[in-house]
Amino acid sequence: MIGKHWTWQSLIDARMTVTAFCHNPACNHSRKLDLAEQRARFGPDAPAMEWDVRPKLKCARCGGIDVGLIYTPDTSPRGDIVPAWRKGSAQKPPRYDP
Ligand SMILES: [Zn+2]
Repeated sequence: MIGKHWTWQSLIDARMTVTAFCHNPACNHSRKLDLAEQRARFGPDAPAMEWDVRPKLKCARCGGIDVGLIYTPDTSPRGDIVPAWRKGSAQKPPRYDP
């Protein structure tokens, strides 16, 4: 990734996985970022390099702001990660048949 300036869109296009992890040794929380969600929030062309993103992160578990990022290429077979529950179909209320 040296020399490359990631944006949310290019991370998605390259099928990268971005994992945030807490530096607090007592916490050690880590979580994959939802790139589509970040893209929706910041825009597809928003810079998504570690130093751009880190200041915006906060550990959900301990509240610490010392959060690092790991960028990993996706080596798994093709499969788009789409938050299906945001697409509307899964959001319908339970069907009511009188
Ligand atoms: Zn933490």
